[in-house]
This record gives sequence, structure tokens and C-alpha cells, in this order.
Amino acid sequence: MAAAIIDGKAVAAQLRSALSGEVSKFVDATNVQPHLAAVLAGDDPASAVYVRNKQKACDAAGIRSTLHRLPTEITEDGLLTLISQLNNDPAVHGILVQLPLPGHVREQVVLDAVTPLKDVDCFHPENVGLMVQGRPRFLPCTPHGVQQLLLTSGTQVAGAHAVVLGRSEIVGKPMAMMLVQRGEAADATVTICHSRTQGLAEITRQADIIVAAIGKPRFVTADMVKPGAVVIDVGINRVGDKLVGDVDYGPVTEVASAITPVPGGVGPMTIAMLLQNTLTAAKISVT
Ligand code: NDP
Repeated sequence: MAAAIIDGKAVAAQLRSALSGEVSKFVDATNVQPHLAAVLAGDDPASAVYVRNKQKACDAAGIRSTLHRLPTEITEDGLLTLISQLNNDPAVHGILVQLPLPGHVREQVVLDAVTPLKDVDCFHPENVGLMVQGRPRFLPCTPHGVQQLLLTSGTQVAGAHAVVLGRSEIVGKPMAMMLVQRGEAADATVTICHSRTQGLAEITRQADIIVAAIGKPRFVTADMVKPGAVVIDVGINRVGDKLVGDVDYGPVTEVASAITPVPGGVGPMTIAMLLQNTLTAAKISVT
């Protein structure tokens, strides 16, 4: 039987609609409008599209968004000055630094400069540490989106063997840490795989849940998936004029019990979770 499609677009739309209600209640109660400041340095067209989509989503949810566009030649000091201004601006609640930054700028230095209280991407070591210890201030947007999809699709996560492909700071590592926590859509037994993993297919075939985040088009093939497994595809890869995931979607739908499409799976959830973190940051600012 073909896999059920986990419709991230629909789940994200529901979350965003509930969130706009929460935003308007918060504004009524505090007279403070949540505000996300986005920093876009350079002229990468894909980054510009991502930022535009995030801003549109903010507008629809009643969250103010401002864009700080900087030229490719911006210096690291120039970026740090802007981050410091945004950190100190009481009207700004969330700061989003769109990656990648121009090659001459040290991304880690810039990301570390964002105050943890406005770090809506959950990249700051303080926030990562809190998340790992199971007492999060913010949750990282993409892994949180994946967890919400597991929850709304009714996937049994507690006790399941979850195999996470990829160990990046943005997706793989925090994803694994969140799945291993105690709690809802968690309590899994987790294996993390990366480019040095040996016998990868043997490991993925043992997975009840696969989360693929490696950035290799159609890498996870049907023979790597246990019948009945739930497959979450985080990958976004441009192949010709098409976007494809890290999973060989068609054949894998014949084996898996549930699967996320690309596009329309994890991507929309990432944005919804960013909005949620911005509201959380605004709430923090008034406490
Ligand atoms: P990175 O390039 O930072 O990390 C990729 C990871 O995959 C690394 O840990 C790497 O291992 C591992 N890897 C690469 N090749 C293999 C292989 N052959 N076998 C096993 N592991 C491998 O990518 P990101 O985590 O940032 O992103 C992953 C994908 O998710 C991309 O397609 C990206 O576009 C997408 N993405 C989607 C988002 C969304 O909202 N849907 C958000 C963020 C990312 P090693 O560490 O050893 O190099």
C-alpha cells in the first residue's frame, strides 16, 4: 500500500492560523507587536526568496518584519555593529541572520553575537545548551517542524528507532537531540549518521523513522527503507528546474507507511516554527 502523505503545507497553515490568534491576543494584552528583524547580506537569489517568504508569513500572522539588506562587501565589523544595534533595540524581538553570509565573514562570530534572548533560530550556544538539557528557551525551527509533523501524523515516536541522516548544527544534531528527549514526539532511540558512517543502508533499514537531512538529491532509495517506516525528508535540492528532496520519493512511497513530500513537507513547517519563536521572544521581552 502506498505511503500516507504527511502534508506539511496544511499542518503549517493550521499552526500559522492558530498563531495569528495568539499574536493578536498578545498584542491586545501588552500593546507590543512582535517584531522580527531579518539580516540579509549579499545577493544570493535563493536567500532573498527565503527571507521574502519569511517576511510574508510574518505579515500574515500580524508579526512586524523588517529587512536589513547589506551589500556583499559588508565587513564583519559592519555586520556586528548592526547586530549590536538590533540586540539593543527594545522594539526588535527576534533577529534572523540569513545564511550563507559572504565568504569573508565568519558566520559563527556573527551568529554568536545575536543576544540569546532574540535568537529565534536557536543557534546560540546558550540556547542549544538549554535545548539539549531539555529546558528549551527556543526550539530550532526545522527540527521542531519535523517533530510537529511526527506529532500530527500520529507517528509512534516513543521507543521507536529514529535514524537521522546528517549532523549539521542546523538540522541533524539538534534533530537527534530533540528526538532523544523525554516528552511528546520524542523518547526515541536515536542513531545519527553522516558522511563517514559505514554500512549506512543497513542502519537505515533498521529505522522506524528516518529523517533525511544531507543535501543529496534522492539519496535515500527504497531498498534503504524498512517496510512501514515513516520517512521525513528535510532535503531541498535543485535538480534542473525542479526541487527534490534527499529521498527517492516515488519508489519510497511504495515501502514507507508515511512520507513528507518536497516541496510541501518540512519547508513550510520551518517558517511556522520561526513565527512561533518570534512570538516567544516577544513574550520574553515583556516578562
Ligand atoms: P549540511 O551540508 O550542513 O550537512 C549535511 C550533512 O549530511 C553532514 O552532516 C554530512 O556529513 C551529511 N552527509 C553528506 N553526505 C552524506 C552521505 N553520503 N551519507 C551520509 N551523510 C552524508 O546540510 P544541512 O543540514 O544544512 O541541510 C541538509 C539538507 O536540508 C539540505 O538539502 C538543505 O537545503 C535542507 N534544509 C532544509 C530546510 C527546510 O526547511 N526544509 C532547512 C535547512 C536545511 P559530514 O558531517 O560528515 O560532512
